[in-house]
Amino acid sequence: MIERSDAARRDGEDPLADHLQLFAIPEPEVIYMDGNSLGRPPRMALVKLERTAWQEWATGLVRSWDHWVGEPGRIGDLLGTELLGAEPGEVVISDQTSVNLYKLASAALAARPERPVIVTDDTNFPSDRYVLSGVAAAAGGELRVVDADPVLGPQPDDVAAALDDRVGLVSLSHVGYKSGAIADMAAITSLAHDVGARTLWDLSHAAGIVPVELGETGADLAVGCTYKYLNGGPGAPAFLYVRTDLHSQLQQPIHGWFGHADMFAFADDYRPAAGIGRFVTGTPPMLAVAAAGAGIETSVQAGIAAIRAKSLSLTGLLIDLFDEILGPAGFTLATPRDEARRGGHVAVRHPDAAAICRRLIDRHRVLPDFRPPDTIRLAPAPLSTRYVDVWDAAHAVAAAVAV
Ligand SMILES: *Cc1c(COP(=O)(O)O)cnc(C)c1O
Repeated sequence: MIERSDAARRDGEDPLADHLQLFAIPEPEVIYMDGNSLGRPPRMALVKLERTAWQEWATGLVRSWDHWVGEPGRIGDLLGTELLGAEPGEVVISDQTSVNLYKLASAALAARPERPVIVTDDTNFPSDRYVLSGVAAAAGGELRVVDADPVLGPQPDDVAAALDDRVGLVSLSHVGYKSGAIADMAAITSLAHDVGARTLWDLSHAAGIVPVELGETGADLAVGCTYKYLNGGPGAPAFLYVRTDLHSQLQQPIHGWFGHADMFAFADDYRPAAGIGRFVTGTPPMLAVAAAGAGIETSVQAGIAAIRAKSLSLTGLLIDLFDEILGPAGFTLATPRDEARRGGHVAVRHPDAAAICRRLIDRHRVLPDFRPPDTIRLAPAPLSTRYVDVWDAAHAVAAAVAV
């Protein structure tokens, strides 16, 4: 039996325990298990929002653009070098994830018209599959959707079987949005490169929760959002990654002035900037960029190694509690048990999941996340979730089965 006091003891020994104070938590009695959908606000983000509005917008007015123009690149560098294993100049804050996916997938296919096929898998986020299928169709190709194991996610062998010399791009999520399974970025990238295809990784459920090694794995391209584990705020601007040697080989399809080599020359013709800037399109939303920057800084200060260690320990506790109380209550585990393959959340399935989630919200003050038809995702964000929250949440889930 795992007692609540065991969880409390682990909170007492947790080196990240004091990070809870860095977050604005106006309703402490609510147990939040949805940090993979919308992260809690760091206090610093709320302060930065107000400061940016008063000092930079109200007071600085248009003069603030002198430093605003550099912010998406500066914050991109911090994110890229500290959390994603990228080099400076390879990551920039821009647009939404879906838009960045469109831009980079289109750029990759346009560079090699003889390879208009994209490979993805059936556990990938639906929006990604919609975007990729549109891009492939526009290039005169098709989207090949590999059948993946719903719990373990796409395996290198699954992807290998779909590759041939018509494939220009393999695009997968690094961490599956439903199961939380980690796909093997190094092995899959290497298989894609063997047949001459490039890889485009969606890091939305990976950034700020698992260490990502874009440089080391040889990944070509990546996108992701900042409002999940990076706590950047609702609809916060996303990021994109393009490996340095590809900057000159790829051109994105939306030729906006922010991607121009000399935007303030107001030239008649589009000439793409030399570096990562060519993948930017228009004016960045500076209030939202400020909040996203604060969210990213909060994770950087904690350190990705410490975040990952606590995350595995929290999800490990959830899985132990699954074995003790949720399995016997009729749930099945839909997340890999292997730590090396487990992202930041634990998914459980139950035929009555929709009603269970309603009861959790209405009666137990637990905010879980329901994914139809039968999946409940429990995401204990390591910087703002305690071990006792995980214990309470698991016991509430078990209690919510019985009416
Ligand atoms: C959250 C998420 C998105 C979100 O895309 P938006 O354009 O920000 O709405 C995209 N892809 C994946 C894999 C996600 O998890």
